[in-house]
Amino acid sequence: MGNRMKRRDWLGASALAFAAAGWSAIRPWSAQAADESSATGENLKITDVRTILTAPAGIRLVVVKVLTNQPGLYGLGCATFTQRARVVQTAVDQYLKPFLVGKDPTKIEDIWQSSFVSSYWRNGPVLNNAISGVDIALWDLLGKRAGLPVYQLLGGKCRDAVDTYRHARGDSFKQVADEVRRYTEAGYRHVRVQVGVPGVSTYGVRSSTDEDESVPPNQRTRVWEPKPYVRTIPKLFDYLRQNVGAEVELLHDVHERVPPVLAIQLAKDLEPYRLFFLEDPFSPEDIGYFEHLRAQTSTPLAMGELFNNPNEFTGLIKDRLIDFIRVHISQIGGLTPARKLAAFCDFFAVRTAWHGPGDVSPVGHAANVHLDIATPNFGIQEAREFRQEEQDVFPGCPELRSGYYWLSDRPGLGIDLDERAAAKFPIEDDPPFDLDWGNLRRADGASTKP
Ligand code: MG
Repeated sequence: MGNRMKRRDWLGASALAFAAAGWSAIRPWSAQAADESSATGENLKITDVRTILTAPAGIRLVVVKVLTNQPGLYGLGCATFTQRARVVQTAVDQYLKPFLVGKDPTKIEDIWQSSFVSSYWRNGPVLNNAISGVDIALWDLLGKRAGLPVYQLLGGKCRDAVDTYRHARGDSFKQVADEVRRYTEAGYRHVRVQVGVPGVSTYGVRSSTDEDESVPPNQRTRVWEPKPYVRTIPKLFDYLRQNVGAEVELLHDVHERVPPVLAIQLAKDLEPYRLFFLEDPFSPEDIGYFEHLRAQTSTPLAMGELFNNPNEFTGLIKDRLIDFIRVHISQIGGLTPARKLAAFCDFFAVRTAWHGPGDVSPVGHAANVHLDIATPNFGIQEAREFRQEEQDVFPGCPELRSGYYWLSDRPGLGIDLDERAAAKFPIEDDPPFDLDWGNLRRADGASTKP
């Protein structure tokens, strides 16, 4: 009785106090925000959010530039979803920009969280990339403001440089072996190997047999059959171990394209060849098979370049069903979720292997490398040698030496964007690269998923 009375009294008194003081009494954040701004003397605000589309290496890149009211202070972020570049551009320009202009760019976590729910529906590749463009730009911007490289903001260096792997591919085993040797002679310790399978298009290897110039590009199909592929790959590894030795770390990407039971057989067949990892054995829709795969093989497993939603990866990690997490950082929403994912993986001895192909912009590669260098459970980084055109558009690309990525100590991500150079490489709206995904078919003409 006494307690109830006291509670009622408190509620009554509180209501009266709020009524007397007006809304400001229950909106403490307004006054607090004003105090913080005046304390720094900057009143830093986002003044503009711009999307820049460019294709210096022929692949459509989407980069976001966040500008502030402090002259010269801006950040750059990667929002590259190359297959749907203009849709990401619309998401940034039409929806995120009006949501963010006027806000404090140093509130990175708050901007991520509020942007994430601003569309109500979320976790898709377009909106995640749009948020990533802003998010990575805010980390870059904060680093520039603090005069520190982003890796310092992420906890500091765990290593001096970032070990990487490159891609060796060919139409014959010998060509692949020659490519592996070319990389090991250049100082690389890790090489991904893919080979053409006669009569079958294989990811990473273009076969001349399925090009027909008389057919319009959007109707030109490639044939994919899983059985010839899974019969060929163990023979490739046998050849490579005999011809390039046991020391080089070899990787292979299944690219999700085989029925789950064939992927399990392949992982078992490859055990004698001691892979560094076998990548993406299943489609994201088939991740329930990992339990069976894990129980049957000791081949190290990497997964995740198609993941968008944390529900796709948290279970695989906490159940210790994979060895490497391989998400595409912009695809899950940028550095803010990626650093949490890396930390989560650390508790389960899962190592990072962020996706790093040509459809990550050099800004995205820089973000990968800053996170790699500050991550204790870093595994390996897929690397790219930036063409001169890319370096002209993006001065300050991470440097590759002896198979390692090296970072400068420049503030922020340490990379810039020359917009005049970028304008020399406008994006094409219909590159054949995009058409491959929907036009890969089984021998009987049925569509097949990557
Ligand atoms: Mg892959």
